[in-house]
Amino acid sequence: SGLKKYFEIKGGVFGKKVGEVKAVDGISFSVMEGEILGIVGESGCGKSTAGKSILRLIEPSAGEVKFENKDITNLSAEEMRKLRRNMQIIFQDPYASLNPRHTVEKIIGEPLQIHGMSSAKERKERVKELLEVVGLSAYHASRYPHQFSGGQRQRIGIARALANNPKLIICDEPVSALDVSVQSQILNLMEELRDEFNLTYVFIAHDLSVVKHISDRVGVMYLGRMVELTDKDKLYDDPKHPYTQALLSAVPLPDPDIAKDRIILKGDVPSPSNPPAGCAFHTRCPHAMDICSKVRPEFEEIEDNHFVACHLYGEVQ
Ligand code: SF4
Ligand code: MG
Repeated sequence: SGLKKYFEIKGGVFGKKVGEVKAVDGISFSVMEGEILGIVGESGCGKSTAGKSILRLIEPSAGEVKFENKDITNLSAEEMRKLRRNMQIIFQDPYASLNPRHTVEKIIGEPLQIHGMSSAKERKERVKELLEVVGLSAYHASRYPHQFSGGQRQRIGIARALANNPKLIICDEPVSALDVSVQSQILNLMEELRDEFNLTYVFIAHDLSVVKHISDRVGVMYLGRMVELTDKDKLYDDPKHPYTQALLSAVPLPDPDIAKDRIILKGDVPSPSNPPAGCAFHTRCPHAMDICSKVRPEFEEIEDNHFVACHLYGEVQ
């Protein structure tokens, strides 16, 4: 809750602070056990930073993170290390996140070793099991990352994340770098794994079509803020925030005979080092009113389980 991550910009010969990038600017949400929460937004909206801040791979500047009702914001590095077996991350680029000089056995076995499985024989067995769980085979264990396709590499990344039976996995655009046909295979696999192991995902994507199938709820981010969050069906059928409406109007429909008016937004996303005052979306919003450039809209529950940050709804209006 109230999660913020500001990065300092340093400049000049003395490297003094000359500004800051408000990568995540005060977001609040919860994820239920066993749920898949999609988080969507354009690149630079802060979604990856938010994901990493939840695991404290990046230290939040403000706000609070709770895991199983325990405040983990101020846990020591050692306590955090222990807890991380329950909280894992899968990255966008499986190739960059797998050490090219290590065999698959070593890559997947490493988290097991870190969390106390000291017997090499046990680790070997567990690696074999994990490879089969993600649709690879025991004989892949002795190979190196470059010997696999992109989709297979992401399967290795998933096996590594699953090694210690985590509860929560932050999935940071796990299919964005893959071909469309491979994307659906990996998404299906991830859904099966969620059911089999009762996993909870925060599933980050830059595209509303990717998270449509897999998510239970979806949150939309713009310039470091959450602008809308609700059940998947509600969000896709009846989006309330003008930014969500614009994003959805750009998602191609399977039936080309159904006409859809695409909402074209003016201008580019402003810089997060100098976000617009009031509603950060007001410079591009087709519905902007006077108040929008002055007062930041609260993230409010405008109907049951439907949160929106926009002056068109809620108190002020
Ligand atoms: Fe548009 Fe105003 Fe709503 Fe922001 S608060 S999305 S500018 S109508
Ligand atoms: Mg990212």
